[in-house]
Amino acid sequence: MKKTDIVVLGGGVIGLSIALRMQNAGREVVLVDPEEPGTGTSFGNAGTIAEYAVLPVGSPEIIRKLPSLLFNKNSPIAIKRSAILSLCPWLIRFLYQSMPKNAARNAQAIAALLQNSRHRWEELSSQIGGKSILKTNGSIYLYHSKELFESGLQDINKRKKLGLNAEMLNLDDLKKLEPNLNLSEGGASYFPECAYMSDPGKMLNLLLNSSLYKGYEIVKQSATRIERTSEGVKIHLDNQMSIIAKHLVVSAGAYSKKFAKQVGDNIPLDSERGYHVEYDMVKPLLNRPCCSAAGGFYMSPMTGRLRVVGTVELGGLSSKISKHRVEHLEKGVANYFPNLSNPNRTWLGFRPSIPDSKPVISESSKGNDIIYAFGHGHIGLTLAPITAEIVESILTKTKPPLPISEYSVLRF
Ligand SMILES: Cc1cc2nc3c(=O)[nH]c(=O)nc-3n(C[C@H](O)[C@H](O)[C@H](O)COP(=O)(O)OP(=O)(O)OC[C@H]3O[C@@H](n4cnc5c(N)ncnc54)[C@H](O)[C@@H]3O)c2cc1C
Repeated sequence: MKKTDIVVLGGGVIGLSIALRMQNAGREVVLVDPEEPGTGTSFGNAGTIAEYAVLPVGSPEIIRKLPSLLFNKNSPIAIKRSAILSLCPWLIRFLYQSMPKNAARNAQAIAALLQNSRHRWEELSSQIGGKSILKTNGSIYLYHSKELFESGLQDINKRKKLGLNAEMLNLDDLKKLEPNLNLSEGGASYFPECAYMSDPGKMLNLLLNSSLYKGYEIVKQSATRIERTSEGVKIHLDNQMSIIAKHLVVSAGAYSKKFAKQVGDNIPLDSERGYHVEYDMVKPLLNRPCCSAAGGFYMSPMTGRLRVVGTVELGGLSSKISKHRVEHLEKGVANYFPNLSNPNRTWLGFRPSIPDSKPVISESSKGNDIIYAFGHGHIGLTLAPITAEIVESILTKTKPPLPISEYSVLRF
């Protein structure tokens, strides 16, 4: 049986960031993942370092809109009918967290975690040779009617109260920034200081290679079970082998719930499924990610392609693609770019989501031999560096970079 210092279970952007950080701190790290690290949900997202995403998904507005959102075919949110029963406990908690007091508290906690995300990614990307992938020309929300523009204004004012820099743009201002966009009514809001990745997959590859270069080990197996033993934390693998670690970090994204349960922590983690379609092109149509606020999707310029990405589908971890979600993206992008032909590829990913939109970055309820780092929902790419910093502080019992009780497992 293999013995090591730290096992990181799951190599998405969260696990890879933690593994590199701990390795830089001189610790021995083994990464366990049955897939090529960095090729899961962390690969296919919109690429935004979304420091502006300070509002939780659950809010009083969403309670008002939820019935029409869930059961309208053209809505940005859908629910798989087969999953409604199993989703009930998560949905009840989500509704509770959407009440005004809870939503306001969650927004504060998310805003605190998001602070300096761009700066943190600038440092990390320089360290791994990925600075040219990180672009810094902002991000835009589009409102295609006067009413949406008005409600966008309210939304922006809420974000400003949480310390964000944002501007409202009329159609002329927008045209100067994004001349190719077809938008004839409404306007936009602009987050000038936001960064984004022109290729999240490539950034993850650099993250992985930096760690490999420093000599850490990857075990390409699925973990099946974890348990505490007198020798340390035992991680059972698919091939009947096991590893004993002094510390285990559970960072398997939407797949993490069962591991926490095996050691006594019942965490309301579910998945918000998200999709992308990509259109190959030589010359980019956009200069920065633009989000259709009503459509619930981004159009992100990526190297050699436009990625149209987003929508929320509640409905578990099955890998079956829902055609109507892909069509939602295709129809949505056609409003802005009517001349696009068929997409070159389609992708499905699983946002690891907690009802209060706050990740779990915490030692387990029974101690810091097992540490949780999952549940980052819509902003895991953005939050990977700060998550790694917090995990290091928990592991080494040193002062964290910010107060962390809001992200604790003890809140459930
Ligand atoms: C459509 C969409 C758009 C998004 N856009 C953005 C954005 O613009 N900005 C942003 O910040 N975030 C965005 N996100 C969210 C972000 O992508 C996620 O929060 C983030 O990728 C989660 O990372 P992770 O490392 O926790 O999980 P993952 O990337 O899913 O990694 C989990 C890893 O665990 C491994 N694993 C699973 N089971 C096991 C097991 N039994 N044993 C060992 N390993 C296992 C998997 O193989 C995988 O490699 C978006 C998400 C989606 C779906």
